[in-house]
Amino acid sequence: MTDLFSRTDSWVFDLDNTLYDAESHVFVEVGNRMTDFVASHLKVPHDEAGRLRKHYYHTYGTTLRGLMSEHEVDPAHFLQHVHDIDISVVPQCDIVKEKLLRLQGRRFVFTNAPRAFAELMLAQLGIRDYFDGVFAIEDAAYWPKPKIDTYHVFLKKHGVDAKRACMFEDLEVNLRPAHELGMSTVWFHGKNVKPEDLNHPHTHHKAERLADWLQENVR
Ligand SMILES: [Mg+2]
Repeated sequence: MTDLFSRTDSWVFDLDNTLYDAESHVFVEVGNRMTDFVASHLKVPHDEAGRLRKHYYHTYGTTLRGLMSEHEVDPAHFLQHVHDIDISVVPQCDIVKEKLLRLQGRRFVFTNAPRAFAELMLAQLGIRDYFDGVFAIEDAAYWPKPKIDTYHVFLKKHGVDAKRACMFEDLEVNLRPAHELGMSTVWFHGKNVKPEDLNHPHTHHKAERLADWLQENVR
């Protein structure tokens, strides 16, 4: 792990489920609002809207990209609608607040969430000032991780050298391009990880949650 700290000058964090917790109501609520949006926009029943969301997610990576590709939905309108939720109950984490600051170098957020939501959430978590940049879904023309072009856009925009960067994520698929580009990776697998999933070559370091990893590795 000493090696990780000596080689890394840029720390890159996913937002949802990485910088705040999985148990949060936020995911459920955003998901419900996406289904509502699909149902009302396409004038289909809710169960059909749920099925379409799965189809978009598997085909395009996000519900939004599917709606843009198949129905020319305005992305700003969609994102504003689905992320218009109350996040005031999301708690701050003292370990994250204390230990993130001890990571030497630049810190970035690299998220598939929209910028306005990311900024509000970081403020809610009390860590907005910790970051040198927030790369949101708008920044790569709404193409989400794990599309590798999006990683190239991120690295170029912030002048980050992939070989000196470390990426933190809860979705292991999003670490595959990071690994291919030469970044170090830390995967947060949560509580119910399958043993066979702990051996992916693209997940270099692992912990249940960010707070656990910081507690163990950052003095
Ligand atoms: Mg995430």
